[in-house]
Parts: sequence; structure tokens; C-alpha cells
Amino acid sequence: MVSVAIDGPAGAGKSTLARRLAAELGYIYVDTGAMYRAIGLYALRAGKDPKDNAAVDALLPEIELRLASIAGEQHIYLKDEDVSTAIRTEAAGMAASAVGANPAVRAFLLDLQRSMAKKQDVLMDGRDIGTVVLPKATVKFFLTASPEVRAKRRCDELSAKGQKVDYNKVLKDIQQRDYQDTHREIAPLKMSRDSIKVDTSDMTIEEVLEKLKEIVVQKVG
Ligand code: C5P
Repeated sequence: MVSVAIDGPAGAGKSTLARRLAAELGYIYVDTGAMYRAIGLYALRAGKDPKDNAAVDALLPEIELRLASIAGEQHIYLKDEDVSTAIRTEAAGMAASAVGANPAVRAFLLDLQRSMAKKQDVLMDGRDIGTVVLPKATVKFFLTASPEVRAKRRCDELSAKGQKVDYNKVLKDIQQRDYQDTHREIAPLKMSRDSIKVDTSDMTIEEVLEKLKEIVVQKVG
């Protein structure tokens, strides 16, 4: 099985790139951030503080998380509800970052993620794919960009969806998530030694896409 790991901080362009690259290569795209977001959303809806590990742990047995690929797009479900859109808010992103520091949540998702990579060729994006989830991935990328560029991209993305945006608030959230994601004890965001680092600050999506594709094709043959 071929597996491509793409890690990096929030807003580095991972999901857009990963989705397109997976489609071009014919691999299944697995957006692991969506899984953390769905659990964060579940906790918020249950009226729990996503930072409260004991409260979130108690919810895990009742969480029925499911992924499905519909017309090449990944959809994520909580029981029978498609929450693919509901998880794309700043609040769900912050909740995802909080539950991502919870060891029981990470163990819960690790099994699901590894089993997906055993069954099919995958392109998986997240924070710990190259370091923890798929340490033997065929190719590992680490995508990054400056916090300001990432905040600007996130604002463009949110306003394209009709959401109200405040650049300074988004930048602050990005900096806070960077801090939380790199400083947590378990599976922190860090580049594995065998990752290929790509700074996308001054690159267009098309340029990054071409570069990554070339590297994967060369490696896989
Ligand atoms: O990538 P996305 O912004 O959707 O991820 C939301 C949050 O989920 C991240 O800030 C991070 O804290 C968490 N996450 C994680 N490990 C992953 C993917 C996401 O901890 N593999």
C-alpha cells in the first residue's frame, strides 16, 4: 500500500492540496483534522469543556464517528448526521485543538486512521501523521507558511463561505493553536526527520501541487 503523509500547522494549505493531490494520484484522502473537529463539536454540543479530559473521555464510548467518500469528497458523520460543514467553524477548530491534547481521544482516532491506511492507498493529512500514525509512510511532507499568510488564507476561506471574519482574531487563534499543537505532551506537531519541508508562503496552490506530485511520482514510480 502507498501512503503519503502531509503534516503542518493550521492554514498551511494542507487540506486543499491534499484533496487535489489525492484525486490526481487516485488515492483516498483522509482528513484527520476533521476527525478531531467532529469530536470537538460533539463535546461542545454536549455542553462539555473540550479541555476537560475527564468529561470528554466519558463521551467517547457514545461517539459514532464515520467517514465516507462521496463523489471523491470526504464526508464525516456523527451517527447519521453529516457534520462536514458544521465542523468548519473557528469554534470547532479551537475545540479540535483542545481535544487533540487528550490521550484517550488520540488513541481512539489512531486505530481508525491506521486501519484506513491498511486497506487502501491513502493520502493522510494532520499534525502527527509522519511521526506517529504512519511512521513508515512512503512519502512524508511538512507544509508550512508564515502565521500572517496562514491567517489571511483562513480569512479568505471563511469569507468565501459567507462567514464573518476578523483578521486579528483569526491570526490570534492561529498563533494559539500553533502553540497548543506544538507544546502538547502527546503527539505534538513537529517535523519528522525524513519529511520534506515545503514553505508555501510565496507559492500558489498550483505550484505546490506540481512540486508534491512530482516528488510522489518519482518515489512511487
Ligand atoms: O487541520 P485542522 O485545522 O482541521 O485540525 C484541527 C485541529 O485538530 C488542529 O489544530 C490540531 O490540534 C488537531 N489535530 C491533531 N492531529 C491531527 C489533526 C488535527 O491534533 N492529526
